[in-house]
Amino acid sequence: MEHFSEFNLTPELYRAIEHLGYSKPTPIQQSSFSKICSGRDLVGIAQTGTGKTMAYTLPLLRNLSKPTQNSPRILILVPTRELVLQVVESINNLCTELSFKTIGVFGGTNINTQKREVEEGADIIVATPGRLYDLALTRALRLKGIQKLVIDEVDVMLDLGFRYQLINIFDVLPEQRQNIMFSATMTTDVDELITSFFKAPNKVSTAISGTPLKNIKQYRFDVANYNSKVNLLNFLLKEKEHYNKVLVFVDQKRIADRLFNQIALNFANECAVLHSNKSQNYRTNAIEEFKTGCSRILITTDIMARGIDINDISHVISFNTPAFPENYMHRIGRTGRAEKKGESILFSTKTEQDQRMGIETYMDFKIECLEWPDEVDVSNELMPEEKNSKEPYNPHKKRNDDVPGPAFHEKKEKNKKVNLGGSYRKTIAKKYKKPKTKGDKNFNRRKRK
Ligand code: AMP
Repeated sequence: MEHFSEFNLTPELYRAIEHLGYSKPTPIQQSSFSKICSGRDLVGIAQTGTGKTMAYTLPLLRNLSKPTQNSPRILILVPTRELVLQVVESINNLCTELSFKTIGVFGGTNINTQKREVEEGADIIVATPGRLYDLALTRALRLKGIQKLVIDEVDVMLDLGFRYQLINIFDVLPEQRQNIMFSATMTTDVDELITSFFKAPNKVSTAISGTPLKNIKQYRFDVANYNSKVNLLNFLLKEKEHYNKVLVFVDQKRIADRLFNQIALNFANECAVLHSNKSQNYRTNAIEEFKTGCSRILITTDIMARGIDINDISHVISFNTPAFPENYMHRIGRTGRAEKKGESILFSTKTEQDQRMGIETYMDFKIECLEWPDEVDVSNELMPEEKNSKEPYNPHKKRNDDVPGPAFHEKKEKNKKVNLGGSYRKTIAKKYKKPKTKGDKNFNRRKRK
């Protein structure tokens, strides 16, 4: 099925695809279309950027009977609020001439407004698991009509601890339904979920995870410490034409904020930060500004950036070296999309070298190491977390400090128990004698009389 013409779509869907400018289905769309249409459960392994959203929305829309805008028939679960908005937008793009109603629900916003909205009815619900379950519990949202369940980015969902919420949701859905699941990686947790809840699913997958995309050039720098990384990043970002849309990854929200404040000193109006502690409005604005090019630099964390579809990213800079090679793969996959060229630059300190080598082994690819630019200062100043790096054994630690001090007062003579060894039970047995028969509670009492 290499052409949309083989999909046997309705004229409305064909016109929508033409309007979107898509000339042919992507590989994941080609391989999942007929499998989803067959009605059997499906597990797809595909990363964002492969066209996986339309790989499930297109066959589902093609087979969805006429709009009722009443009780929802399709439920799509995604891990983040940003993805809810993105999937709703992608469905609406396909439904310009169709009157299916799609509602997106997610936490962090007023539940009563959402209750009223879902009570009015919909054909498709796109939701984060927590808010969906809350709405189902209040009976504002009835799920008895759901025929198709899609869980997107399952691996992220399980990483975020949504497992029990997913199981609770399965419980309130009709048993007769088609399950469709997409994940970027196949982890043990994902596999366990599939075996427990899916019925003999069909499987489709795109590139094996761990294969670096051909159109991404990968480089790395060996960097002395955090502050030298900041100096290097400032230096690189000065070349505005070359670094025209840069996604900078860090491993913690706290560090994202700190780095943002430091980078904003030089690039005040070109820089934004995005992580899950920011308000929904802030998050939506940060993405929008980066998408439209209003901000050139976006500093973010791994979870937040997964699944977000932003085109034309020129550079992905890994400010830290991820401990999990899969995270590195997801990071670099944000550039070099849709056959475009992209660059990835990895910063590693001495303590991050093992992680860097782990990534290279995972990819079976050596990342080219670039020379430190003469113009960039190597800082000697360490950050608090770098000073407190905990060694498993610290030979300089004063052992005497560890000895507990004397008691506040001397114990009374009768309290000075000395452990002479032997078990407590033996002492008790000697004192009271062993009962002759099991269960004869009165034996000792009789003897004492
Ligand atoms: P996704 O993997 O669903 O996040 O999609 C990544 C990007 O690919 C989105 O911007 C889609 O609009 C785009 N896309 C989806 N299907 C196609 C297609 N058949 N041809 C070209 N672009 C597509």
